Amino acid sequence: LVDIRGLNKHFGSNHVLRDIDFSVSAGEVVCVIGPSGSGKSTLLRCINLLEEPQGGTVVVNGEDLTDPDCDIDAARRHIGMVFQQFNLFPHHSALDNCVLALMTVLKKKRPEAERIAKANLERVGLAEKMDAYPGRLSGGQQQRVAIARALSMGPDLMLFDEPTSALDPELVGEVLAVMRRLADEGMTMIVVTHEIAFAREVADRVVFMDGGGIVEQGKPAQLLSDPREPRTRDFLKRVL
Ligand code: ATP
Ligand code: MG
Repeated sequence: LVDIRGLNKHFGSNHVLRDIDFSVSAGEVVCVIGPSGSGKSTLLRCINLLEEPQGGTVVVNGEDLTDPDCDIDAARRHIGMVFQQFNLFPHHSALDNCVLALMTVLKKKRPEAERIAKANLERVGLAEKMDAYPGRLSGGQQQRVAIARALSMGPDLMLFDEPTSALDPELVGEVLAVMRRLADEGMTMIVVTHEIAFAREVADRVVFMDGGGIVEQGKPAQLLSDPREPRTRDFLKRVL
């Protein structure tokens, strides 16, 4: 579903992604771990071209997003993204946050948009909170609205960038539970996370990044318990 070849990204003189090759199959759940500044977010943002790579190709669903003729807006509709900050509209209800996305991005009429939005808010366990404004929701609930909004677009691929890092510890579990359910439903997911336990239990594959490159990847049991590379071992010693 995702096929990245020779991806390079510079910010000025800072070479942030170095010749990354990275593929993800349909239905696969890949967790990306690594130290701060290693390029995890930049890699994720290159997958939907929120950052423009300077070299290499990013193919999603058979479409080369780095091709100048590619309709990026159309391609992005198939890629859901959830950030650390929830980025909800504060003056719209949970339901309307999802509905407005459906109406503006997918040009749905209000009744159909509401039907889709409600189904996805139910999917993340927020049937009771549809009319609440973000300010009246907990961080965990707000993040679940953000997930419902992304799901409302009917994505083939979901990208998560540290979706639980801004949450109080007691709210992390409810968001991870929603993500775990999505994974069980067969959603293709790339998750940048510090939640090693989640990676261990849910990921099909864990990728360790350092210094703008993929140092090592493998099954969670192997990579997290018996890493081959010293850099992976050092990192895990620090975070576990
Ligand atoms: P963290 O765990 O702290 O989120 P990360 O692995 O996600 O780190 P990135 O955010 O991808 O790391 O950043 C990689 C490098 O790129 C860092 O050196 C960072 O300073 C730099 N960088 C990221 N975004 C920009 C930007 N918009 N402009 C300039 N430099 C940037
Ligand atoms: Mg980051």
